[in-house]
Amino acid sequence: MRDTYYITTPIYYVNDVPHIGHAYTTVACDAMARWNRMKGKRVYFLTGTDEHGEKVQKTAAQKGVTPRQLADQVVANFQGLTPALEISNTGFIRTTERRHYAAVQELFRKSLANGDIYLGEYEGWYCVPDEAYWTDLQAGDGKCPTCGRPVERRKEPSYFFRLSKYQDRLLRFYEENPRFIRPESRRNEVIAFVAGGLNDLSVSRTSLTWGIPVPDAPGHVIYVWYDALTNYLTGLGYPETTDGVRTFWPADLHMVGKDILRFHAVYWPAFLMSAGIEPPKGVFAHGWWTVEGQKMSKSLGNVVDPYDMVKRYGADAFRYFLLREVSFGLDGDFSEKELIKRANTELADKLGNLLNRTLGMLGKYFQGTVPEAGVQEPEDAALAACGREALAAVDQAMEDVAFHKALAAVIDLVTRANEYVQAMQPWALAKDPEKRGRLGTALYNALEAARVAALLMAPFTPAASQKMWDALVPGGGAVADAKALEAGRWGGLAPGASLPKACIVFPKIETA
Ligand SMILES: [Zn+2]
Repeated sequence: MRDTYYITTPIYYVNDVPHIGHAYTTVACDAMARWNRMKGKRVYFLTGTDEHGEKVQKTAAQKGVTPRQLADQVVANFQGLTPALEISNTGFIRTTERRHYAAVQELFRKSLANGDIYLGEYEGWYCVPDEAYWTDLQAGDGKCPTCGRPVERRKEPSYFFRLSKYQDRLLRFYEENPRFIRPESRRNEVIAFVAGGLNDLSVSRTSLTWGIPVPDAPGHVIYVWYDALTNYLTGLGYPETTDGVRTFWPADLHMVGKDILRFHAVYWPAFLMSAGIEPPKGVFAHGWWTVEGQKMSKSLGNVVDPYDMVKRYGADAFRYFLLREVSFGLDGDFSEKELIKRANTELADKLGNLLNRTLGMLGKYFQGTVPEAGVQEPEDAALAACGREALAAVDQAMEDVAFHKALAAVIDLVTRANEYVQAMQPWALAKDPEKRGRLGTALYNALEAARVAALLMAPFTPAASQKMWDALVPGGGAVADAKALEAGRWGGLAPGASLPKACIVFPKIETA
């Protein structure tokens, strides 16, 4: 097994205000990064901001500042997501950094040198907000096919990337790497798009100045997408042959929204192939969120602010909802009512309650000291089997980037553990001195289920998991440092350990 893991979010457009979409991608990557660390891998987790392009230039002009000044002011909106959402990224890249200019120009030079980039003339329909050219077929009605806003006719000298040349290589690459594009439905769309024929791609602009200059071609600025995609190499130290590049490239997973899959699954591998660099191992396209059944938009005033959600519900509950509510890859609907319901019924009533009530009984009947697990009866074995299944299910689900399945497996374990406590009736066993051994076994197993659940929740609810871990594994250190496959083995709870008499990790969210 490869012992490194490199995962990236897209770089976020610095001119935007962070919303649920940004939070979603970042939280998903964070869960993957955390789980892979817990599998003992060396993880590099990169996020950052895309700071070039026409929109930044225009906004800066409106505000009377330079584009760089504007970027410096607003980058904090995105950098702040790291502490607010408990994100464990190892790197943050800004495309306005000097190191990034060097990387983009080096990659560009390689394709210039081998003839894959050539000078031509581009004419097409241009959508300014999206910074995308469209063909007559795509925008013949005068509207941008992605955003519906009006397009304008533009013509300019431009460098082109010989994308047409890579059609067969890309199709072969998809065939040889069936997990390169996920989910499967998206993979089929991309293959159909590439099989339908590829036009060479315009990769420079003369119409704007805020970008990375084409090497030795005054007036030409590199196309923002070419610039942006290269961040995944810059983040590791490219074009220097650093330890980071050698260790972590090719990337294991580029996590993206479905709207930008084509850039990552078609253009990016072709740019890399041309430069003699191995393409990434995987791209996963997730779905979009509506808000209370409606499309999220500034004009509707229903944009979900992740900072606001964290302030009201805490990072753990917000993270949990995002990854639990929807089959990852499909679209979902965000609703505060549903968030509160999930947090209260699953986190508070099931997981939090299992831990807190069992600790309470341990305090009452054993002065807080973990007893030995005694003779195993069938119901004990069934719960232990459920614990083992949960570990295996989470491991498989994370391999499949199926967070909803991982969380369903943990909640299932917790549900079973609560039923087990209910069936064992420790309060009744406690009345009979001859049942003392059975009482000890019951509490041991219930606490063990809580311990395994705390561990398996660590990629999703990091703060709460740490609190649970501290309660159940005194001196256990950071749960994030635990090795999941070993620490998650049933029976890891230490007899003789002294545990607190209570631990409330998920207070119920009050609804007015
Ligand atoms: Zn558009």
